[in-house]
Amino acid sequence: MDENGAKILDSWFRCQICQDYFTAPVLIKTCNHNFCSECIRRHLGYQKQRISFTSQCPTCERDCCPTDLIPNHILTHMLDAYRQSSLEHCRQQQQQRSPPAQLWGRR
Ligand SMILES: [Zn+2]
Ligand SMILES: [Zn+2]
Repeated sequence: MDENGAKILDSWFRCQICQDYFTAPVLIKTCNHNFCSECIRRHLGYQKQRISFTSQCPTCERDCCPTDLIPNHILTHMLDAYRQSSLEHCRQQQQQRSPPAQLWGRR
């Protein structure tokens, strides 16, 4: 996979609200956008207080409500696998970047 592809893939696993990897991702079934359970609930709660009973998806601004949220178990598993593989990737890169042998010989 090239670097650009990796970035796009990475963005799939990030929540638009906190910009971090999903924590307990939920899917808004009306528009198919994913957010952390906590982020979207906080967002919907926040909107509810300000604008009487209409809530919108932060990404597409389509109306949604907490009952439209369903836990996205598939995404949870995909995220687990993705994090595992990127950790693996980092480890491999670190090994490649280990200091050259002559450094260890110096006193
Ligand atoms: Zn989030
Ligand atoms: Zn949406």
